[in-house]
Amino acid sequence: MNGIYLLLGTNLGNRERNLQIAKEHLTAHQLVIKKESKVYETAAWGIEDQPNFLNQVIEVDTSKNPERILIIIQIIEESMGRIRNEKWAQRLIDIDILYYNDLIVDEPRLKIPHPEIPNRRFTLMPLVEIAADQVHPVSGKTQSALLNDCADQLEAKAVNTDQY
Ligand code: ATP
Ligand code: CA
Ligand code: CA
Repeated sequence: MNGIYLLLGTNLGNRERNLQIAKEHLTAHQLVIKKESKVYETAAWGIEDQPNFLNQVIEVDTSKNPERILIIIQIIEESMGRIRNEKWAQRLIDIDILYYNDLIVDEPRLKIPHPEIPNRRFTLMPLVEIAADQVHPVSGKTQSALLNDCADQLEAKAVNTDQY
């Protein structure tokens, strides 16, 4: 069970709409969305004095390499008006590459698997929902095992998106 998984995050403006627009942009760049998790709401991680985040994990199908996906992500983040300032700052949209099958990349600009996966409940909850058996290529653990071992205290709650 291998796949390419992206994490979407937003905590500004119409957050549900930001997720939708980001997915439309990804599709327009030929990243085919195969699966979507529910949308999860979480208090901001890292810097706590800012609005709650909505997060969603999607599985995509693509022949593009990870470097190309990173460039596409940055184009989308910029076109959606993200202002690059401090790390973990509030943003209209953040897109991270979580896994690219079982590939391992360790470069300054690109680290795959995303190094924070084991530390973030808001990433592991949606991953377990749609990719429970995906094996982390470094630790060899499934997403379910990673969530079991995760010490993150910040709760991530699936939200009913019909309310938007
Ligand atoms: P975090 O990575 O802890 O979630 P962040 O998403 O807020 O923090 P950004 O400011 O969005 O961090 O990104 C900083 C840099 O991270 C990007 O410019 C990009 O080059 C780099 N990066 C490294 N690995 C990845 C990855 N797997 N997916 C997306 N960006 C990555
Ligand atoms: Ca991020
Ligand atoms: Ca990012």
